[in-house]
Amino acid sequence: MRYSALALLAEAFRGNAAREPVWREPEPKPAYDVVIVGGGGGGLATAYYLAKVHGLANVAVLEKGWLGSGNIGRNTTIIRSNYLLPGNIPFYEWSMKLWEGLEQDFNYNAMVSQRGVLNLYHSDAQRDAYARRGNAMRLHGVDAELLDRDGVRALAPFLDFENGRFPIRGGLLQRRGGTARHDAVAWGFARGADRRGVDLIQNCEVTGIRIEAGRVKGVETSRGFIGAGKVGLAVAGSTTKLADMAGLRLPIESHVLQAFVSEGLKPAIDCVVTFGSGHFYISQSDKGGLVFGGDLDGYNSYAQRGNLPTIEDVMECGMAIWPGLGRLRVLRHWGGVMDMTMDGSPIIDRTPVEGLYLNAGWCYGGFKATPASGWCFAHLIGRDEPHPAAAALRLDRFATGHVIDERGAGAQPNLQ
Ligand SMILES: Cc1cc2nc3c(=O)[nH]c(=O)nc-3n(C[C@H](O)[C@H](O)[C@H](O)COP(=O)(O)OP(=O)(O)OC[C@H]3O[C@@H](n4cnc5c(N)ncnc54)[C@H](O)[C@@H]3O)c2cc1C
Repeated sequence: MRYSALALLAEAFRGNAAREPVWREPEPKPAYDVVIVGGGGGGLATAYYLAKVHGLANVAVLEKGWLGSGNIGRNTTIIRSNYLLPGNIPFYEWSMKLWEGLEQDFNYNAMVSQRGVLNLYHSDAQRDAYARRGNAMRLHGVDAELLDRDGVRALAPFLDFENGRFPIRGGLLQRRGGTARHDAVAWGFARGADRRGVDLIQNCEVTGIRIEAGRVKGVETSRGFIGAGKVGLAVAGSTTKLADMAGLRLPIESHVLQAFVSEGLKPAIDCVVTFGSGHFYISQSDKGGLVFGGDLDGYNSYAQRGNLPTIEDVMECGMAIWPGLGRLRVLRHWGGVMDMTMDGSPIIDRTPVEGLYLNAGWCYGGFKATPASGWCFAHLIGRDEPHPAAAALRLDRFATGHVIDERGAGAQPNLQ
């Protein structure tokens, strides 16, 4: 069924009689041309573009839980392409362009909202750094505006402009940035892939990777062996565990990141705002809750839950720019497991095992990358060559020294 306003109306009159599950629940076949491990944003988008762009439909996505149970359904929904370095800008801008046509492309309402992303600056040095970033963006054809204090006040009058410790001097604004409904993104890609013949297999955990003579042959799973010509890993926070099954040691650590949503409010903030003197980002969902987050918990973990000191730290950062937040109640909070690389940038590349491909290292920012992550990974798997937009996101950059250290923080995952 193709979704449209007319179809919705027709179904209302028919009592939703023609409604079907959005994807099938197939049994796994003995073998596929391509097996993607991980039914998160990256895995589902890859399967979708493999089928749509590369005509490969003998593809399975294997997910150990339910589709979208990982970080794709746990993030704070921010999308943007306000990057500085040449290795990152083309990739994230390609993602932004895909976001702009995504809902029409996969015929699903993902609530993509280009409401603007505003990064506050609080000192002269930070203003200069943002001016440099904005110029780099504009040189690559990405929109960027440097606002002074009055420009910020016009957009976000509720912020604390009298704060002596963290004075708001202005902000870098990307108007095309914004938010998207994260789980709907997973569902849209899943539905689109399923309609093109991809098997989406839930409750199927990969427990081993079979390799013979240096070539991948398939995967051992909780539902038996599944043969594969090619295997793509898109398992985010579980990347090091899966790589271990193939005998690979990666420059990645897993860390927990928490997120929060408040009770519902009337419209209060119509763009995404980030704090420049601490790690804090906030937006308002269409239901009215304020959605926000901050830093990693700071220790290695595979647990999807965090600790109280980080919660306190996030709340302090929020209160520093918006004291009124202190009067709100937090409705829910949760954690996700992040695959942090040593330079803060992702990896989309082949591995030393023939036929085994890696999509990982998404750090704080893999949600905004979802469409390009899938597009470029599908290109790599389908054509066996890197997509030009992701050509710098190589695994060997850590050995050759061509790191893409966006924050200039070095090999410290908590600072990326
Ligand atoms: C709290 C939080 C806030 C965030 N906020 C933002 C944000 O605002 N903007 C942004 O751009 N990014 C954000 N991110 C990062 C972003 O969500 C992730 O980088 C991105 O979702 C990771 O890619 P993914 O969607 O493919 O991962 P996931 O959704 O985690 O998918 C990986 C899947 O692999 C499955 N899997 C793991 N092991 C196996 C196995 N052995 N067999 C089968 N399946 C397996 C998992 O169950 C999971 O479903 C945030 C992350 C968190 C946790």
